[in-house]
Amino acid sequence: MWTDDLGTLGYFARGGDPARAMMRFERRALSSYRKTVSGESVWETPVYAGPADGLAHPEALEEIARWLKMGYRAPLGYFALAEIENCGRLRQDVAAAWLALMPKIEALGGSIGGPYGDTKRPLMKTISPGASRFSFHICGRAIDLNQAHRSYFPARETQGARTLWRIWCRCLDQSGAQGSRIDGVEYYNFAEHCDAPLPAGYYVDLTAAIEESGLFERIPAQNGWQREYQASEWWHFQWVPEKQKTFQDECELIGIGEAELRKAGYSEPDLDHPPG
Ligand SMILES: [Zn+2]
Repeated sequence: MWTDDLGTLGYFARGGDPARAMMRFERRALSSYRKTVSGESVWETPVYAGPADGLAHPEALEEIARWLKMGYRAPLGYFALAEIENCGRLRQDVAAAWLALMPKIEALGGSIGGPYGDTKRPLMKTISPGASRFSFHICGRAIDLNQAHRSYFPARETQGARTLWRIWCRCLDQSGAQGSRIDGVEYYNFAEHCDAPLPAGYYVDLTAAIEESGLFERIPAQNGWQREYQASEWWHFQWVPEKQKTFQDECELIGIGEAELRKAGYSEPDLDHPPG
């Protein structure tokens, strides 16, 4: 039975929904992540080209047979977590990119050093206002800059109905050797709830520097940010590559399995919810 095979591959448990297990397997087959029986992470150009609809198509059954032959398993824990200079953990590929970005931004006269507001967030942590149950923080792919950093000046950028932030980082060296002279720009003063002129001086466009590689992105403020500071999210950056379709698929990659998610109170619709 293909359900037994999906059990072997790590996608079906007795009492589970076979169609849902098949859909998860098909979705995973369309991605590049595999683990081997011996627990090694393997990146493979996907072979399966069928739909991810939970039906046992001949192509899907062939793919199951191929995984068994290749010794592939669900990529549970494909990525390890890695420490960011004792300031929290991120998924290893995300951590490596962030650590590589640090000296580049320091060379520009800016800083993205810790302590951070948040990095990898545990599953069971109380969800604070504005935080999502499906947060990329739980998946180890988001980092919150230090909100107390006195050099950060977030400026509002309106795109249609959305508010985004551009962080101007005031350079330590104000001789003109670092950054650019910024005039006529306003930042948002959260204490006074209004825009205010950016103090004259030399700044680095931190948002541009962080987003330059295309690997990290900012997110828009949530509705009500004017009243609820936590909803502004001006400090939040997240990893762009290979966003998975569901929260569960993201969690799988860092070693959080379905049983653990259900134990933490996630329902099936939660598991199938897009991450972020
Ligand atoms: Zn965040």
